[in-house]
Amino acid sequence: MTFSKGGEPTDSLRAETRLVVSGRDTEAQKGFINPPVVRGSTVLYPTANDLHVHRGEFHYGRHGTPTTRALQDALAALEGPQCAGVGLVPSGVSAISTALLSILKTGDHILVCDNVYRPTRNFCDGILARFGVETDYFDPLIGSDIAALFRPNTRAVMVEAPGSQSLEMPDVPAIAAVAHARGALVVDDNTWATPLFRRALEQGVDISIQAATKYIGGHSDIMFGTISPNAQAWPALTEAIRLLGVCAGPDDVFLALRGLRTLAVRLRYHQQAAIDVAQWLAKRPEVARILHPAFPDDPGHAIWKRDFTGASGLFSIVLKPAPPQAVDALLDSVKLFGMGYSWGGYESLIIPFDCAAYRTVTRWAPGGPTLRLHIGLENVDDLKADLERGFEAFNARQ
Ligand SMILES: *Cc1c(COP(=O)(O)O)cnc(C)c1O
Repeated sequence: MTFSKGGEPTDSLRAETRLVVSGRDTEAQKGFINPPVVRGSTVLYPTANDLHVHRGEFHYGRHGTPTTRALQDALAALEGPQCAGVGLVPSGVSAISTALLSILKTGDHILVCDNVYRPTRNFCDGILARFGVETDYFDPLIGSDIAALFRPNTRAVMVEAPGSQSLEMPDVPAIAAVAHARGALVVDDNTWATPLFRRALEQGVDISIQAATKYIGGHSDIMFGTISPNAQAWPALTEAIRLLGVCAGPDDVFLALRGLRTLAVRLRYHQQAAIDVAQWLAKRPEVARILHPAFPDDPGHAIWKRDFTGASGLFSIVLKPAPPQAVDALLDSVKLFGMGYSWGGYESLIIPFDCAAYRTVTRWAPGGPTLRLHIGLENVDDLKADLERGFEAFNARQ
């Protein structure tokens, strides 16, 4: 799948270049740089024989169009040579549920990291439980000690590195080595780093998913999910996608591809700006701790250095103990930081969170109120001034 125009392999090119040249068939696009937004269900066959043998590249809208093919090729080129293909689905949650349904059946057991995105847990505790799949949660920092939690029927392990609220960093290669020795597949939510900053499939992951709603789209204007399996996971995954009937809308496919072209410049800015703002926050008297794996004193730092080539714009902070009304005053007084769910767009966001509300096997006791920040593409001095205003309101309510 890592081919661009004229079937030239792009593996020798660096990631930033691959983001630009992959998934572009300029000749088929009649000279235009970008593919058309193909809206379509029916694909016509010229002869009865073509119909009988399903000749041709495209057969039915749900199974792919020139627009989806362009995005799939570009994403596969970014994931690297282990990627056997890319499934495009209508949301990040749909990517997670489709990936898990492709692996699991009644009577199976799945191990899920305690720091995963909350709707991932809800899917396991809801639909998977209803179909007779048992879920056990594990400590994100368990490493190879996960071996003790395996049962003869454990078929899958679900991880997220780092967790999108607590930023705890599981050792995915160590967990994957144990999983593979026990015949289980590893599904990884790589939304935080994207394949640009972490090639999950090269670290023992069998199916890497992304909420492309976040950094791939990059502009807070689409809901989108991608599923990238290795060769072992690919056949069951394509079957699940076909049988479940999931597919993405043409406009969203186009916007995801457009977002992907600028991923490298955006992520580099998000990374730099987030580290800058986090370093400024670390010096504030109101802040007890920064949860950001690129910080040398973060517990996940060694793993981040080993497995990642960059950090995105999302991190969390622990405030010194303060009454809830002080935190609300901070949230109400910042203007550039919007309050809202999701992240990965061009705009900065701030949200309070409490992992204790849903954790089941690890204790979340950070010792103060916690806030998650997404640093957007604004000027960092403006962002710091905005947070400064927030802290003034915070201190006035202490
Ligand atoms: C947002 C998010 C999802 C879900 O994506 P949607 O497109 O909102 O369904 C999954 N995982 C992580 C880590 C996310 O942040």
